[in-house]
Amino acid sequence: MNTRIAVIGAGPGGLTCAAVLRRHGVEVTVHDLDASAGARDQGGTLDMHADTGQIALREAGLIDGFFALARSEGQSKRMLSRHGEVLGEHLPQEGEDAAPEIDRGQLRALLAGSLEPGTVRWGHRLTGVTPGGDGTHLLTFADGTRTVADLVVGADGAWSRVRPLVSGASPVYTGVTFVEACYDNVDLAHPVVAELVGDGHMFATGDGKGLIAQRNSGQHVRAYIAMRTGEDWHRAAGIDPGDTAAVREALLKAFAGWDERLLTLITGNDGPYVSRPLYELPTPHTWPHTPGVTLLGDAAHLMSPFGGLGANLAMLDGSDLALAVARHDTVDEAITAYEEVMLPRAIEATGQVSGVLDRVFGPGDRGAGDAPDFEREGREYKRRAAEHLQRSQAR
Ligand SMILES: Cc1cc2nc3c(=O)[nH]c(=O)nc-3n(C[C@H](O)[C@H](O)[C@H](O)COP(=O)(O)OP(=O)(O)OC[C@H]3O[C@@H](n4cnc5c(N)ncnc54)[C@H](O)[C@@H]3O)c2cc1C
Repeated sequence: MNTRIAVIGAGPGGLTCAAVLRRHGVEVTVHDLDASAGARDQGGTLDMHADTGQIALREAGLIDGFFALARSEGQSKRMLSRHGEVLGEHLPQEGEDAAPEIDRGQLRALLAGSLEPGTVRWGHRLTGVTPGGDGTHLLTFADGTRTVADLVVGADGAWSRVRPLVSGASPVYTGVTFVEACYDNVDLAHPVVAELVGDGHMFATGDGKGLIAQRNSGQHVRAYIAMRTGEDWHRAAGIDPGDTAAVREALLKAFAGWDERLLTLITGNDGPYVSRPLYELPTPHTWPHTPGVTLLGDAAHLMSPFGGLGANLAMLDGSDLALAVARHDTVDEAITAYEEVMLPRAIEATGQVSGVLDRVFGPGDRGAGDAPDFEREGREYKRRAAEHLQRSQAR
């Protein structure tokens, strides 16, 4: 295909799509509003599952680069009650590779760095898309530049500017907000936090709230102080979100009665708190085939982060779309083949994740029976990855 392909968004999904396209010799341009790959804090750590994210990285030729950066020990997980009792724990075996962790910033640098210079147009915010009527689209950017594309890929996340071309859906608030807090030099400066989080993740939930912490690389820990609350909770409580002391006081009041050591996650942070209300797209989210345009990742199936599927699926979508483009003669055939696989997969995944917030943030205390079977999860990733390999070898 001699096709002008414009991917909007250099997140995990858009960059994976571009990397797999380039590996198959297909020209592509990626446009992102960020000024550069490292322009802003990319957020925490991601576990790359063997049956999704790792398959996509393999298709992009980046699996060895991933394992060189990934933290196998980051797969350790511990679930506690709000009173501090350990309800479940998983300590990974040496070399366990079902879902190793990588910082988002490292993943973005790995993916973007694999593309020829100029493939990603940084500082390019899409402001408008106009259908040409023949399957082409005119794209307009905030800096006044314009370009025409035969295939527009909406990989521009939750608040996608491309999505309205195919669907009227928009994200709705889940009722849960994460308040983010960070700890630097954690082993020396924050020993209680370091001990709670171990090498990987710690979750303590109960009474409609949660304290969740994850170790990133470089002795950095990121915590999410999670509450079932209004979308704009500080405004409702009359608190300036920039007033760290006032936010802390309100959080401590909300978590009254929780274990003292767990409360260190609220009291000991370096820097400000950042509120992140969680949104999801109504499900099932599908759309009629639309010539010259499709969606991937959060633009197509934004879901709550419980399940750790969002980035993994975005990358698998990106890889599947790129392979469909490489294997079909026309854009229309490629979009149809891709959406036939991606849409049912997204419906199944959102179905799995949809009840999790209600379970995790339900009233009352959690007990040992509520702890996920982390070992079984890892075995499932590996089993599905092996099935995928068998299917692709049979093709
Ligand atoms: C707190 C939290 C924790 C999470 N943890 C995990 C996890 O452990 N594992 C997991 O798999 N997922 C996790 N997720 C979900 C994951 O972050 C997303 O699903 C994933 O980032 C989606 O990737 P994407 O490429 O579709 O979109 P995004 O990562 O949102 O990337 C979209 C890109 O588009 C760009 N963009 C947006 N608008 C425009 C525009 N108009 N013009 C140009 N560029 C634009 C943005 O700058 C961005 O680079 C988590 C989410 C949250 C909120």
